[in-house]
Amino acid sequence: MAFHRFKALETVLSRTPVEVTLPSNKVSEFFGENVFGIDAMREYLSEEAFNSVMSAIEQGSRIDRKMADQVAASMKAWANSKGATHYTHWFQPLTGTTAEKHDAFFEPTEGGRAIERFGGSQLVQQESDASSFPNGGIRNTFEARGYTAWDPTSPAFVISKTLCIPTIFVSYTGEALDFKTPLLKTLHLLDKAAVDVCQYFDKNVTKVNVTLGWEQEYFLVDEALYNARPDLSMTGRTLFGHAPAKGQQLEDHYFGSIPERATAFMRDFEIESLKLGIPIKTRHNEVAPNQFECAPVFEECNLAVDHNQLLMDVMEKIARRHNFCVLLHEKPYAGVNGSGKHNNWSMSTNTGKNLLSPGKTPKTNLQFLTFFINTVKAVHDNADLMRAAIASANNDHRLGANEAPPAIMSVFLGTQLSNVLDELETKVKSGKMSPDEKTALKLGVGKIPDILLDNTDRNRTSPFAFTGNKFEFRAVGSSANCAGPMIVLNAIVGDQLIQFKNDVDALISKNVDKDEAIFQILRKYIVESKKIRFEGNGYGEEWVKEAAKRGLSNIKTTPLALSAFVSKQTMELFERHSILTEREQHARHDIYLETYTKKIQIESRVMADLAMSHIIPTAIKYQSSLIENVKGLKDIMNEADFKKAGQIQLGMILEISEHINTIKTKVDQMIEARKAANVITDAKKQAIDYCEKVKCFFDVIRYHVDKLELLIDDESWPLPKYRELLFTK
Ligand code: ADP
Ligand code: MG
Repeated sequence: MAFHRFKALETVLSRTPVEVTLPSNKVSEFFGENVFGIDAMREYLSEEAFNSVMSAIEQGSRIDRKMADQVAASMKAWANSKGATHYTHWFQPLTGTTAEKHDAFFEPTEGGRAIERFGGSQLVQQESDASSFPNGGIRNTFEARGYTAWDPTSPAFVISKTLCIPTIFVSYTGEALDFKTPLLKTLHLLDKAAVDVCQYFDKNVTKVNVTLGWEQEYFLVDEALYNARPDLSMTGRTLFGHAPAKGQQLEDHYFGSIPERATAFMRDFEIESLKLGIPIKTRHNEVAPNQFECAPVFEECNLAVDHNQLLMDVMEKIARRHNFCVLLHEKPYAGVNGSGKHNNWSMSTNTGKNLLSPGKTPKTNLQFLTFFINTVKAVHDNADLMRAAIASANNDHRLGANEAPPAIMSVFLGTQLSNVLDELETKVKSGKMSPDEKTALKLGVGKIPDILLDNTDRNRTSPFAFTGNKFEFRAVGSSANCAGPMIVLNAIVGDQLIQFKNDVDALISKNVDKDEAIFQILRKYIVESKKIRFEGNGYGEEWVKEAAKRGLSNIKTTPLALSAFVSKQTMELFERHSILTEREQHARHDIYLETYTKKIQIESRVMADLAMSHIIPTAIKYQSSLIENVKGLKDIMNEADFKKAGQIQLGMILEISEHINTIKTKVDQMIEARKAANVITDAKKQAIDYCEKVKCFFDVIRYHVDKLELLIDDESWPLPKYRELLFTK
């Protein structure tokens, strides 16, 4: 067994960076070259077809059949010019990854010949036997068909000689089975609601886009070491491993120089990403050893979501070229910082205004405050749903573990804006305001500086922080599909803006002047949402107590957090705006619960297997060698000398036995607990059982295995150790 670990280490030490050459020094020369974007469409489409696609993108209009045939033909010609031989609908099922089913462009004809074919019908819609994707009982077994349908707002692209067409994924009966379908609906909802509110301030606003800029954290580990750790390769995280003598205490990795092999990998995957039109811009080391981050320039939300999904895929593929594995898991190593995916979120208008960026005049600042306060109010009213949106078995390791924003939802505003809100709260009168009072208010609002970005005023412990011109949802897990949190955020803010408009209009209809009506409603929201605001240290014990006092939820585990998806409030919210039906929401809830159960189940199995077939046999072998040694000492020594010389070994023999005993006992108990959980038919009860009665064995089993790691001869330890996984370059 030791063979694997040392062989792996030898392999790692012999590695050299893979040579990467930039296609051109100017990114502009290859950016987006594998995308059927505006330029390619202009070149390949007739003017009529081009206009038809553009109006589908901009106004959501339908593309008729004749036009679809034209687009398909051009798309195929373009894809062929890029070397593509196959095409696939590319979609995002609820597993969290992307799915594709490749079809060749050619079709066999009579007489053993073939013709190249890709028409409008293949572009627009595809039937897929999708019974293997999670559907939460929506798709009956007798009707296993699902459909994928083209999303023209996200451009097609070529990767690995395949034309990929971004699509939604729905059941035969029309229910959403993916992330994109509800995401597009929430984007539409927010667009309409925000445009309506913008009309108070600027009649030129006719379209509001949600913008998303994600920051992706990840770990790199050498492929050989990864393959020598069955826990890493099967669960994405290490289930065992003693903390290294040197951890991240020195913080020398953060913003330090990036190791050469890693740099080569980054250059390579950045080139691929840029060719795919992903505007990747920054890269740096993260807090933990071998942890990194990359981030693009923000984009329209739907596109940004697709780009993040695509990037994760590209990273994994390119990493192999460099003999690396990318760990996107939220917590690959215990005791070492985990990985998140910050979702920077804002709204921008067709007039080029970022609605969460303060302006230069009282009027634009009032508009800014309107969107800002409505967002805070929406998060306040739907805090549990926000928590549900980031819940996963992986992310449970981070939330509340004093390294990532806690499971308690709160909003950080920064001192300046907190003061502005406090001032509005005290100065806005609920009765009629005098002209002087109104002027004073407007002057006050006008004083908000247009640059709020102040790096000293950053709170990295808040799950949802305002960072000058956007909100940053920091609690999202590194492997998550951004669409999950975006669906929730767009929906709750969209719904809130509609409420706001109704509230303001109600006052206006009672002859309150518009600005005063806006001020009064904003003041009401400030008061109502006060308890969600928190400027202090979100990692501290103090906050846990304070939050409890305020009545904020602190839901630590996924099976419980997910309940917010099927609360009456959420059901009504999603139904009201036709985002998801009750049936779809129940299905999703079930899928998430099942995913949770499966993850813990797999971890538990891998843990038991490793403990029984790797760890205990190694311990027994080493113990036998100690026993031999003791026997030998006894043979050659008199009793008095032996008493002195053999004590340590005897103690170790006993200690090893104790650890083996505990491990074996706990593994047996865990297997029994699993058996009991497996027969539970209710998805929620089963997930809770896995969480409370199976997962609870992980720590104790790990504790004893990690003790053995310290006791046993390094030569015979089978699994690469933390110091090797984390510090080999
Ligand atoms: P950091 O948080 O590392 O200090 P920045 O604040 O500059 O860096 O940006 C972080 C992320 O926020 C980037 O991915 C960027 O694209 C994104 N971002 C910046 N402005 C917006 C915006 N208006 N809407 C959405 N995302 C944005
Ligand atoms: Mg950030």
